[in-house]
Amino acid sequence: MAEDGGAASDSPQAVALRARSVEELYELLETLGSGHFGVVRRCRERSTGTFYAAKFVKTRRCRGSRRGLERVQVEQEVAILRDLQHPNIMQLHDLFTCRAEMVLVLELMRGGELFDFIAEKEMLLEEEAIEFLEQILLGVQYLHGRHIAHFDLKPENIMLQEKDVPKPQIKIIDFGLAQKLEDGVTFKSLCGTPQYIAPEVINYEPLSSATDMWSIGVITYILLSGLSPFQGETDAETLSNVLEGAYEFEERYFSDTSEMAKDFIRQLLVKEPQERMTASECLVHPWIKPLNRKQAAKRCRSSINMKNFRKFNARRKWKLSYNMVSACNRLCRMRLLCSPRTEGEELRCCESDQEEEGSRPVTLLRRRRSSCS
Ligand code: AMP
Repeated sequence: MAEDGGAASDSPQAVALRARSVEELYELLETLGSGHFGVVRRCRERSTGTFYAAKFVKTRRCRGSRRGLERVQVEQEVAILRDLQHPNIMQLHDLFTCRAEMVLVLELMRGGELFDFIAEKEMLLEEEAIEFLEQILLGVQYLHGRHIAHFDLKPENIMLQEKDVPKPQIKIIDFGLAQKLEDGVTFKSLCGTPQYIAPEVINYEPLSSATDMWSIGVITYILLSGLSPFQGETDAETLSNVLEGAYEFEERYFSDTSEMAKDFIRQLLVKEPQERMTASECLVHPWIKPLNRKQAAKRCRSSINMKNFRKFNARRKWKLSYNMVSACNRLCRMRLLCSPRTEGEELRCCESDQEEEGSRPVTLLRRRRSSCS
């Protein structure tokens, strides 16, 4: 990888821009996942033997190009990650950068996605689901306390550090859309994934930490029922359902759900952002923190709808694979258009700035990596 030079970081994690190549310092292993702008690979630090996840992000080489991400966008993701240190937030370990690509060496999530872990279970009590939700809320409370909003909370971005342990630890990943919210500065954006985005995103209204809390409401609803509250046949229909804010707790899907859980969701799926519970308020909601034995007992008697949850998860995974295959096909078509390269060049190749032929029309949502609707 071409070097930019080693500007030392003053962050607590001492993440530095490396003057050496990623392959020199890390052995690159199998692919763990991929998105529109690159791949994530398992890697092993040569000096310590520790495993990490290396996220390769293609950056644009010139203004006006649609290939890759704006460099400043990745730099923003890095700046945010550098600032974060919490047990439920994935950490940045190292960073490599060159003109056409940045490589983020991240804490490795060996346990896979939370939803996949849950889908393998025979049954799950609300009480057990709450343990996971509480960890998500602690991570989000920490972020919001630092005036950072994630803006892309969805099942793909909630992973487990390990899964074969008595109490798996949740980690929130992918800060590609995250923003530091400044006092008195309005932030608007049309980013996110239709199923999980709040009405204010679609309306292009100011966003805040409350925007994340809507997504947590959607995730909780799905976790309990295996149903997505606003999912339509198409993205446009989903967006319109979100704007209408119409959802219900259909008895056949929520027959085993406690009233406290429904109340928790009702206080998050509120159109008015200021009226939604904050992460701190969620953490003291009686469903999460029961006030008495009676409330605690209700959580032990209620369970999540595993049959439907497994169906939802299988569909979700199928759509993610479909999106990935489409992305690979697009990439292959682009590569055919570009001049041939040798295999060894592949990892570090700097993509040409030639635009994808027949690029699709501009859509409302600039959906980044691994989105699925
Ligand atoms: P991202 O581009 O950050 O959304 O990552 C794309 C995919 O790579 C994710 O959906 C995960 O499957 C995988 N991934 C990302 N970060 C990690 C990590 N730190 N550890 C393990 N897998 C990861």
